[in-house]
Amino acid sequence: MHILVTGGAGFIGSNYVRRLLNGHSDIAADRVTVLDKLTYAGNSANLAPVEDHPELRFVEGDIGDPALVPELLTGVDAVVNFAAETHVDRSIHDAAAFVTTNVLGTHNLLQAALRTGVSRFVHVSTDEVYGSIDSGSWTEEWPLAPNSPYAAAKAGADLLVRSYARTHGLNVGITRCSNNYGPHQHPEKLIPHFVTTLARGGTVPLYGDGLNVRDWLHVDDHCRGIDLVLAKGAPGEVYNIGGGVELTNRQLTGLILDACGADWSSVRRVPDRKGHDRRYALDDTRLRALGYRPQVDFSRGLAATIAWYRENPAWWEPLTAAAA
Ligand code: NAD
Repeated sequence: MHILVTGGAGFIGSNYVRRLLNGHSDIAADRVTVLDKLTYAGNSANLAPVEDHPELRFVEGDIGDPALVPELLTGVDAVVNFAAETHVDRSIHDAAAFVTTNVLGTHNLLQAALRTGVSRFVHVSTDEVYGSIDSGSWTEEWPLAPNSPYAAAKAGADLLVRSYARTHGLNVGITRCSNNYGPHQHPEKLIPHFVTTLARGGTVPLYGDGLNVRDWLHVDDHCRGIDLVLAKGAPGEVYNIGGGVELTNRQLTGLILDACGADWSSVRRVPDRKGHDRRYALDDTRLRALGYRPQVDFSRGLAATIAWYRENPAWWEPLTAAAA
């Protein structure tokens, strides 16, 4: 199978590409093309372990490019679309790139997939499209009520993908996953930001009262879920992918402080993020019926992730320096 992975130089996309090529996936990929614009979040170092793999082709380019994308999709069997602008805080500051890439870029991919006859199109969406939930958990039938510009642009893409299944019969699968953690995540995101800041002796910011709740999932488990949706998902269906580990930001901060040998004097309280969702929680019964189970124990996964950042400053130092 020839698979086009968009955003394959980012955190989750590169994990997925490495998995496809190093034999950890059940998907028989005999060719993998990565299309990535290499924005500030894209990092070719994430693909270094497989860069010489004979089945990998890396193309630097934009999912919104109307000439390049149909050319790349010719002869491709399946698309897995990770490419997106992903940082909520950046979307609050300026949402233009979010609309351009997440909505228009996805539309360009869908058009090209239709035109070139791609057999399967998996779109990686997010639980943030549902908004915020005080108790219980979202099933896939829950109405979308995104609160941040990031989530709204993801919801726009998610619904466009759905419409290409309903209107044009494109064989799509949509995944909505909870918060991922693991190696190779850009240090602007919570866990790597806290670990790399503490490693440099800095203080970390905790939003508001610190009681916002997130469900955490190791990136390997997310990629396992995507494999299942690619191979076994019903055409046009949406699948939640959850981790089952709910933590307040305050609890997570405590765990990171402990693991890094720091205490609460390293934490500074900052005003809450605008429109900050209080709680996310997913019901992933539908994917579990396909055999999905998160396999990475959270305590062990978090410890290994923190160890990876502490052992690989050469990976993140250029990124934190660029942001300074
Ligand atoms: P990331 O920011 O680490 O990577 C995004 C990648 O997309 C980068 O390599 C970037 O260069 C590339 N990209 C951006 N714009 C592009 C464009 N116009 N054309 C081609 N490539 C482009 O993001 P991530 O955390 O790996 O997230 C991947 C996907 O998973 C996103 O769609 C995100 O919404 C979704 N998701 C993420 C999480 C999470 O916790 N990180 C949770 C649920 C869903």
